[in-house]
Amino acid sequence: MENAPIYLDYNATTPLRAEVKVELLGSLGEPNNPSSIHSLGRSARRRLEKSRNQIATLINSPTENIIFTSGGTEANNLALKGGQYTDIIVSSIEHEAVLSATSDAKKISVDKDGIVILPELENVLANINGNCLVSIMWANNETGVIQPIKEIVEIASKYGARVHSDAVQALGKIPINFRESGLSMMSISAHKIGGPTGIGALVIADGVELKPALVGGGQEKGRRSGTENILGAIGFGKAAEVVAQNPAENKRIQKLRDLFETKLSQCFPKVNILSQNVPRLGNTSAVVMPGVLAETQVMGFDLEGVCLSAGAACSSGKVKRSHVVEAMKIGDEPTTNTIRVSFGWDSTELEIDFLVDSWLKIYNRANKKI
Ligand code: PLP
Repeated sequence: MENAPIYLDYNATTPLRAEVKVELLGSLGEPNNPSSIHSLGRSARRRLEKSRNQIATLINSPTENIIFTSGGTEANNLALKGGQYTDIIVSSIEHEAVLSATSDAKKISVDKDGIVILPELENVLANINGNCLVSIMWANNETGVIQPIKEIVEIASKYGARVHSDAVQALGKIPINFRESGLSMMSISAHKIGGPTGIGALVIADGVELKPALVGGGQEKGRRSGTENILGAIGFGKAAEVVAQNPAENKRIQKLRDLFETKLSQCFPKVNILSQNVPRLGNTSAVVMPGVLAETQVMGFDLEGVCLSAGAACSSGKVKRSHVVEAMKIGDEPTTNTIRVSFGWDSTELEIDFLVDSWLKIYNRANKKI
């Protein structure tokens, strides 16, 4: 039997957790419409609300303010388009689901480590009079860099602006406390924490009014119509419960990531690992390999049986220049040669050794040394 590929692309999506699989298998045969008033409908409603509770426990949010959506993309769209804002401010490193949802947003720059420049944010806010929304991601999908959300909220509130954060990558990897964050809205997604694809949520603070993007049957308190994706919600809830019960998981993953970075730097003294000295997700490494294009590396890894990504992949499957790395203004090579390694709960030390060996082969092949 052929060996299964090594999966080191957890920031793109994660495998379904075993516990989630078991939970889903137990619910597959049920008729799942929580709006039906008969007993089976009421039982579906209970399953939906249990999932909402499991998520609320993980992020410390009001349970009733979790609005299920089809994923992080829809949650971001709902947050940005659902209010009457005269101005929207985003960072230049947001996910496309934020950047494309607002064509005329003002963009705040990041520094060479990928951290939002706070004085610039303050300056822009000081020159706005209207009803403003600031949308800055909690952690970046390509570099793993964690933004200073507390300071961002403090600055925004001085100017009466609301803050939304795309926490799709932060969820499950670092502690998130929605109530304490001061955020008005936050987007999350199940498939980054071991739940199924096609389910996410927008979490809102008390008092935030939203104009729904989807109207119809009035589900989710009229904020998102359409029969709820119960199986998705069950999977999301279970994944959230598993994460909440395993605080040690992230520590183990970070140790592995750090070991990988040490081994890689020993093997390639000239390798550049981005944002190593600022707060980063413990599972992510953005590696700039000198002299080898990201596309060449991704294809090389695929041949070696390792699945990972260039920072930015578009839906056509092509590798494009990374707008995130470009925004850091650290030269040309990082925008074309960066590979993202993202580890997860099934990652092992053996995989790291294989990864570094494969990198050596790919590098030597590209530089025609063998
Ligand atoms: N925001 C970030 C930071 C992401 O990494 C992703 C997924 O890659 C999304 C939003 C979109 O989430 P979804 O795939 O659930 O629509």
